[in-house]
Amino acid sequence: RQLSMLDQLTGVLNRHGLSEYIQDIFPDNQPHEVALIIVDVDFFKKINDTYGHDGGDSVLQTVAKVIRENVRGRDIAARWGGEEFVVILPETRLEEARIAAEKLRSLVAAITFEGMPDLQVTISLGVGAISGIEPFHMLFRRVDVALYQAKAQGRNRVVIAQD
Ligand code: GH3
Ligand code: MG
Ligand code: MG
Repeated sequence: RQLSMLDQLTGVLNRHGLSEYIQDIFPDNQPHEVALIIVDVDFFKKINDTYGHDGGDSVLQTVAKVIRENVRGRDIAARWGGEEFVVILPETRLEEARIAAEKLRSLVAAITFEGMPDLQVTISLGVGAISGIEPFHMLFRRVDVALYQAKAQGRNRVVIAQD
């Protein structure tokens, strides 16, 4: 049961594993304060094309490790699918979450990959927060729009979701 909640490639929670936490963190009809970051690796298809699927997999493992090691203990990191990750930050305000997202962005941009010295990996991030009552899927939708804007604005950046 534990294993079925984890992504086999990266060791973080998979989407199914994350869903086990959602109900507790986003209680219906009860005000809650929580932030969400969505991370998407930039031009990942190109990374696969250049370095092969194994190279791509190794990038995903490293990005997941950076995320896991640089969020707080109570934050929940998961692989949402493909080259996309989410971090849920309980009891976190928007500005704190933005700082956390910016830290992840700059850490990933600074990674050098063993055996792939010419590879520079960047991530785009959407970030949003709620203070009050908003279901997870609505927050997710807003933050996903912000992520899309981060891509459109040139990638390797953090964009804050509108209310
Ligand atoms: P963008 O900057 O707009 O995000 O472009 P992108 O190339 O990152 O996005 P796109 O969605 O076009 O490509 C994602 C690629 O990720 C396509 C898919 O083959 C690859 N992918 C998905 N899951 C895995 C995986 O587990 N391992 C590897 N190596 N590749 C994967
Ligand atoms: Mg994607
Ligand atoms: Mg991508």
